[in-house]
Amino acid sequence: MPKNEKCVVTDTTVCKFIDKDCKDCFINNMKDEQSAQKTLEDFEVTLSLLPDDIDELQGDECCFCISKKQKRAKYAIVDIGHSEPETTRGAIFGFGKKVRQRIGSLLPLSISICKKCRGAFWMLDIIKWASLLFFGSVAIGICFIPAVNENPVLPYGVVMIGIVIGYIMGKVLSTLYLKAKGRQTRFNVFDIPVCAKMKENGWFTIQDNSEVTHFLFSRKPMLRRISDVRECTSADRD
Ligand SMILES: [Zn+2]
Repeated sequence: MPKNEKCVVTDTTVCKFIDKDCKDCFINNMKDEQSAQKTLEDFEVTLSLLPDDIDELQGDECCFCISKKQKRAKYAIVDIGHSEPETTRGAIFGFGKKVRQRIGSLLPLSISICKKCRGAFWMLDIIKWASLLFFGSVAIGICFIPAVNENPVLPYGVVMIGIVIGYIMGKVLSTLYLKAKGRQTRFNVFDIPVCAKMKENGWFTIQDNSEVTHFLFSRKPMLRRISDVRECTSADRD
């Protein structure tokens, strides 16, 4: 039996993906059937852009370990986008000439990560802050030396130099750490084989392009298993 006879996209892939009560679903709240149908078509395009083995990213084993894979402890989340399906929007606040948007598809990719690899990302952050704190504190300490203290300008200069050295040393030390750890852990999302295939297929990260991808870490995945969504065939609708 269909979930909701009045809805044109009931029991389709997009219905399964949203997986909400009909009263909470944005498609169900759309006024015209055409928009709902278009949403389904767009979603089918997004699905077609995903590799068959995408669910492996959410498996029991860490995707960041390079050699011996450890057990998953958490999920690393990153927003990725694709220019398809073609989406247009008015150039100025949604009005005026329609221009093509950079992002047609947007997904919160959720990737299994073990304790050790999570720790490596954490360590990279810590190194930068610790270096800043250390050299900043040393500079403030120097300011207590009477010869420095008595000069009206010198203490400001010393603190400034301390912060700059702390920042530069933080960069140097984290680069060294990255080099050493890079043999065991992948730090860029597109170094993970499944994601490398996605990159080739036109997917990109929304926020940054840096060597170390900026992830959020969560106990739960933010993305449904795509194979469950794909299983949905027209037979289910009859
Ligand atoms: Zn790992």
